Amino acid sequence: MKIEKWFNELSENNLDHIVFVEKQHHCALCGSELKIHVKSYLENYTVQEEAECEKCQLKTRVKDHRMH
Ligand SMILES: [Zn+2]
Repeated sequence: MKIEKWFNELSENNLDHIVFVEKQHHCALCGSELKIHVKSYLENYTVQEEAECEKCQLKTRVKDHRMH
């Protein structure tokens, strides 16, 4: 059985796929703007989104987006 790896020919680094990630959020505790970190894992085509408040040093959420 042959397993073919999915490959996106249109985007070399898959950066085009992370634009849908929400960019602005505010901390529930202090109202400051959260810093969003986006890491991509090209080996399994997943983007991980992490929101962090620098003031509270609080990581509010980590979300995984599967890219297709
Ligand atoms: Zn905060």
